[in-house]
Formats: sequence, structure tokens, C-alpha cells
Amino acid sequence: MSALWEDVFSNTQLLEEVVPIAVDAALLHGIIMRTKESPNSSDVVNFAPFTLLPSPVPRTLFEQAKSVQEDFNLLVDRLSQNPTFLEQTLASAMKVDDFVAQLFKVYRRVLEEGLAQSVFLGINRSDYMFDYKADGTMALKQIEINTIAASFGGLSSRTPAVHQHILRTLGKSEEACKILTNNPSLGISHGIAKAWELYGSQNAVVMFLVENVQRNIFDHRYIENELWNRNIKVIRRRLTDVYERGSLDEKKRLYVDGYEVAVAYFRTGYMPQDYSEQGWEARLMMERSVAVKCPDIATQLVGTKKVQQELSRPHILEKILPDFPEAVSQIRDTFAGLYSLDIGEEGDQTVKIALANPEQYVLKPQREGGGNNIYGDEIREVLQSVKNSSERTSYILMDKIKPQPVRSCLLKANGQLQISECISELGMFGVYVRHGEKMVLNEQVGHLLRTKATEHADGGVAAGVAVLDNPYLV
Ligand code: ADP
Ligand code: MG
Repeated sequence: MSALWEDVFSNTQLLEEVVPIAVDAALLHGIIMRTKESPNSSDVVNFAPFTLLPSPVPRTLFEQAKSVQEDFNLLVDRLSQNPTFLEQTLASAMKVDDFVAQLFKVYRRVLEEGLAQSVFLGINRSDYMFDYKADGTMALKQIEINTIAASFGGLSSRTPAVHQHILRTLGKSEEACKILTNNPSLGISHGIAKAWELYGSQNAVVMFLVENVQRNIFDHRYIENELWNRNIKVIRRRLTDVYERGSLDEKKRLYVDGYEVAVAYFRTGYMPQDYSEQGWEARLMMERSVAVKCPDIATQLVGTKKVQQELSRPHILEKILPDFPEAVSQIRDTFAGLYSLDIGEEGDQTVKIALANPEQYVLKPQREGGGNNIYGDEIREVLQSVKNSSERTSYILMDKIKPQPVRSCLLKANGQLQISECISELGMFGVYVRHGEKMVLNEQVGHLLRTKATEHADGGVAAGVAVLDNPYLV
């Protein structure tokens, strides 16, 4: 595909003029991040990396991703209430993966004791790429669904204004009008506020669980500030703070520094290194409490790659959503090929196909946060070494999605502008709230487009690989 904005990319003088305007627009609109050097101070900030211009996205695929989001919300919520499914699905991974085992240990404790919480809040982001097929058509294929700490809902609420401004300065005001409005932070905060309200204590707070290193704080602040606008108090704490100064009262209400916590919203806690021993204690205490956890431990487990793979097996979706046949087929349409590496004939077959054609697949461990997947020849190396041991069950295999690259111009702080062949990944944000048995809110609340040069197989915005973008529907 020729570049959508070839006239701009091929005009060096124009580029030189527009780039400083673009950077200032990003800063003015709050597309900002703290620096690598001072990740816990806002004294000096950078613009978050972004594309100079929006990238083409097929309108029908965008609409498809949007319309399936409520179905995915429903699916995640159903699975989170199904301990038998989670236990069976994760049994093999749990044996060889300490992190999954630890999460499951917390989950079992909570199940034994009985769930204290009655309000449930899900904030998901389902990510997709557009698979380019031999016949020239494109298909929407899900990369994964994030059920914990799905990020960039804040910054992506402000990127449309930046691209609109850039297009206008380029004399492309008609194109500027076509940029979609987007406000995930509003929808996310609406969901958090609903959960807070149902928790039912005027003085209780929303607690953001945050990492020790907080470069992406502004992305959180957009959501925090929406909550303050609704007169809901927000505090930010680390897992260690909760360990040191948190407690449960006789009714299992969670208190931290004297504040009663209505909603604990995790923006950390998805990687093994997020937890010290004390961190696990804190997580367990929160899970045992009546506070609304976003996500609760079960919902976090639903977001594992192993669950994603299991759902692609025949008849599983029908079993989980027997009352929603249309949702089942909509969801299934977005699935790429996913293959189990469990011990047995089926897993042996998976090893065989991966060894024969590694460039057709991605090998994925049960990890979140980018940079963990294995590609190409490395798949051979890894599988050769684990293929005869139970260690292989910590991975799943997935068809590699191959989008058609498009030329794009990436802007990164402290770096030069980079014009490269790029591919984009579309994320759809979904929010739901359940009160006891009753779904009281289920919405698609916005999108995120991230674009990266094709030479990078993996890695997100935080890792400095992908950059923020906007879809330009074609
Ligand atoms: P994580 O939980 O680490 O974000 P992902 O499944 O989202 O894991 O994979 C990380 C990145 O790897 C994605 O953003 C995407 O760029 C790339 N990727 C993952 N799965 C595939 C796939 N099946 N085909 C092509 N690229 C993929
Ligand atoms: Mg991802």
C-alpha cells in the first residue's frame, strides 16, 4: 500500500517545518511522559512517542472490533466466575510457571474462604492486528485481551486533537475532520465511579495500585482527574504501602492509611517482578476484602495466554456463553490459530508444526507487558530444548499475524524522526460492572492505535518501540 500521506513524507522541507509544530501540539495537549532519567518526578517531561500523521485502518474492521467488545466483556466476566474452567485450563501451566502458580494460590485461598466482594469491575483492552491474506483481503485478528492494567486510555483521549492540528497546519482540514473523537479515560472513570457508587460508602476512596517506577503517570492522571471531577477521592499506593499500612476490619473492609478503599484499581501487579513476598501478602489481603478489585484475581487469570488458547478450541465458547450464540460467532471470527503445548499427542503435533515453519508462528509464555514472545529461529531453539519436558506447557503457540506494512513517520523524544515501514495494532477498551448476578454496565469506551516499525517483532509504547497513533478510517 502506498503511504496515505506520501506528499508529506517525500517533502523534506515540509517535514522540517511540521515536526516542531507537531511536538509542541503533543505537549500542549498533554501527550506526555516522565523521562527515563527521572521516572518519579514531573519536573522534566517528554512528549510520549507518536506518529506524525494518523494511519489507515479499514473501516469495516474497526467497526467489527468495536461491535465485538461488549461480547468480550461478557466472556471475560463469565470466565471469571468459572473456577472449574480456570483450574482445568491452567493446571499444566501452573505446574511449571511460578507466577501463574502464585496467582492461583491467592485465587484458591479466596475461593476457600468465599468471595467477600459483591461488585465487580472489569476494564479490558482487546488488541488486534489486521491480517493481510493472499487474496488481498484483510481480517481482524485478536492478539490478546488485557484484563489488568490496560494502559493508554488517558493519553489516547488526547491524541486526536494533535493529529487534527497537524493536518490543519498541512492544509488538510477535510482530513482533520475525519479523525475520530476518542475518550477512553472518560468511559473508564465512569465504570470506576459506578463501582464506587455501588460499594456504597461516601467517604471511601479509589486506590490506584502503582509501580515503583512511574513514567506513565499522566496516563493515570487523566482517569484520576475524571474521578476527582465527580467528587471521588483518589489515592495512589504501591503494593508495599498496602502491606505496611493496610488492614481489614471485622467486616473485611480494606483500610490503607486510614482510608476505606472502595475500589482497588491495579496499574501494576501483572509481572513477577511487581511482587515481593510482601507484595503477595498485600495482594491476598486485598483479594480477601470487600473492596472492588479491578481486576479481581480470577479476572486476571482469565487474561492469560493459556486461557486465550483454550477458548479457541471447538465448543468451548458455546459452553461458556450458551445463551449468546451470536456473541460466540462474533468472538470466534476474531481468533487466530492457537495451539496447545500440553503434554500429549496434540502438544506433540504443535511442536512439529512450529519446528517445521517457525516463521509462521509466535511462541508465547504466560507473561504480560511486552518483550516476552519468541519468534523465528528462536522458536526452534526454545522448543528443541523444552519439547520433551513439561516445561513446554508454560507456552502456547499462535499463528503469526501478518499485516500489510504502511510507510509512517514516527516521532520519539530525543530521537530523530523516523520514516519506516510500519504496522499498527488496534486496541478496543471495554468496561463492565456487575452487581451480584446483574450486569449493570457493559460498554465499549474507546480505542487505542499503536504503530511500530516492522523490524520490531514485539514491544509496546512503554518499551520505546511502538508509538501512539490514531486510526484514519479508509
Ligand atoms: P503482551 O502481553 O506482552 O503484550 P502480546 O500477546 O500482546 O503480549 O504480544 C506482544 C506484541 O507481540 C504485540 O503487541 C504484537 O506486536 C506482537 N505479537 C503478539 N502476538 C502476535 C501474533 N500472533 N502475530 C504477530 N505479532 C504478534
Ligand atoms: Mg499486548
